[in-house]
Amino acid sequence: METTTKISEKRWQPGAIVPQSGVYVMHHRDRHSKAEEIVLLADKHFPQCEVCQGEASFELVRTAPYVFHDDDFHSDDTDERRP
Ligand SMILES: [Zn+2]
Repeated sequence: METTTKISEKRWQPGAIVPQSGVYVMHHRDRHSKAEEIVLLADKHFPQCEVCQGEASFELVRTAPYVFHDDDFHSDDTDERRP
């Protein structure tokens, strides 16, 4: 029984919407540049690489919630506990 989606196997392309804030690895075409870890924020676009021209890919390493997106978080068992 799957508890979470297989995010580790998913790849994204430049220009796609970042699904979750976190650390991603950017893989370059033909390995012209070393794969590098970058931090991306949810709802932004994955960046273009001038050399890869859209053929780079991104892989999620780990999520890292962005504190200022607090209002967007899905809470499991709390419904807006506001005074
Ligand atoms: Zn590149």
